[in-house]
Amino acid sequence: MSDPTPDPSPRIQPPVTEGAEGFWEATRARRYVLQWCLDCEAPVSYPRVVCPGCLGARLEYRPASGRGTVYAVTVEHRPQNPAMRSLAPYAVALVDLEEGVRVLSNVVDCAPDDVTVGLAVAVTWEPLDDGRNLPLFRPAP
Ligand SMILES: [Zn+2]
Repeated sequence: MSDPTPDPSPRIQPPVTEGAEGFWEATRARRYVLQWCLDCEAPVSYPRVVCPGCLGARLEYRPASGRGTVYAVTVEHRPQNPAMRSLAPYAVALVDLEEGVRVLSNVVDCAPDDVTVGLAVAVTWEPLDDGRNLPLFRPAP
């Protein structure tokens, strides 16, 4: 029987920073979540322990659409990070999520030069060694 799990990522494993535990736990089930501030009802990204808008500490995770559009993109041909060299060339993009926050990620499953400003994208997952999954984006179906 073949193992349907793709090979683990060559990437450096992202650290779980303070306040981001809930985000990374959700990725184990490939659920894309965003932090929201209960005091000013704003989405917060990246995950942290206080809201950058009002400094409120009452934050919770909510399911997110995982959909957005490319705000800006560059193609990395010669990564400085040795762990990323086997993946080059690849697209690094700022993605505006439907919920109103902007995240930095990679757009995969297409030629890097096909990633353009305004491209509609949806989240996809790359497995990490410890059971977490790294959210990336791909052209939306
Ligand atoms: Zn707030």
